[in-house]
Amino acid sequence: MREAVVGVDVGGTRIKTALVTPDGQVLAEAVHPTPPAVGEQLGQVAATAVAELTARATAAGSAGDSEVDEVRVLAVGLVVPGLVDDELGIGVWSANLGWNDLDLRGTVAAHVDVPVAVGHDVRAGLLAEHRLGAAREADNVLFVPLGTGLASAMLSRGRLVTGSRWTGEIGHVVVVPDGPLCGCGERGCLEAVASAGAIGRRWSEATGIAGDAEEVARRAEAGEPEARRVWQEAVDALAAVVAPVVAAAGTELVLVGGGLARAGDTLFEPLRAALRTRLGRRADVAVEAAALGDRAGSLGAATIALDLVGR
Ligand SMILES: [Zn+2]
Repeated sequence: MREAVVGVDVGGTRIKTALVTPDGQVLAEAVHPTPPAVGEQLGQVAATAVAELTARATAAGSAGDSEVDEVRVLAVGLVVPGLVDDELGIGVWSANLGWNDLDLRGTVAAHVDVPVAVGHDVRAGLLAEHRLGAAREADNVLFVPLGTGLASAMLSRGRLVTGSRWTGEIGHVVVVPDGPLCGCGERGCLEAVASAGAIGRRWSEATGIAGDAEEVARRAEAGEPEARRVWQEAVDALAAVVAPVVAAAGTELVLVGGGLARAGDTLFEPLRAALRTRLGRRADVAVEAAALGDRAGSLGAATIALDLVGR
C-alpha cells in the first residue's frame, strides 16, 4: 500500500495530472485535451484523474514494473490560471477558461471523497520548483513562466508571497502605450508583447508568415531582422518589468519557465544582458531555466495537496 496525492493542472489547452507520493516520487502521469466549458466538468475531471492514475500505478505494480500494489489517495490538488483565491478555493476570473467566481473547491469536493486544495498554477509551480526542481537551493526567487500567458510568482525567504488575488499579475503591466491588444482588453500589456503567444503572433502579423515563438527563436538565431526585432522587443519589455520587481524584493534567482524557456541561450543571453543593464551594480542575480517544464503545474498541484494534509 502506497499513500499518494493527485495533482490536476487545468490549462487553456491541456489538463495534466500526476500521482505523487509524500517523498516526491511520481507514480503516474497523464495529459488530456481541455474540454469545452471545462468549468462545469471539473469534478468529473478530478474524479477521472484519481481513477485513471491509481489504475495506471497499480497496473504497473502488478506487471512487475514497480512495487506499487495498492494506492491510497490522501488528497487532490487543483491548480488553474487566471485570478485565484487560494484560501477560499475560488476561480475569480480566467480569460482563457472563461469563468467568473467559480467555486473550484466545492465543484471538485462534490466528486471526490478526500480533502481538496485549490491554487494558482504559477504559484504552485514555483513551490514544486522549490521542492523538486531548479529553485531547491534558493529562497528569494521570482518565477516567470512564458507561455500562452504571462504571470509570475515569488518566494521571499522561502515563503510564497501572497497578497491580494492580483499578486503576481505582472503580465498586465502596460509596457507599450497604445501597443498590441491584450486578451484582457487593454493595449500594450507585457503579456501582449513578451509571452510566447504574443511573440509568434507579432512576428506573423509583421511578416505574413504563420509561425510560433519557436519559429521566431530559430529565425532570430539565424539573424533575420524582423524576427530579431520582435524577439528583442519581448526581451527588453520583460526586463523592464522584471528588474524593478527584483530590485524591490531582493530577488536572487529569476527562474524562467514555460514554452519560451526551451529557446535556451537565444532567450537567456539577451535577457541576462538586459537585466544587467537595468540592475546597475547588482551582479548577484541569476537568470536560469526552470527544471520541471510543463510538469510544474501538475507537480505543484500535488505539492499543495500534500501541504493540505500535512505530508
Ligand atoms: Zn493585459
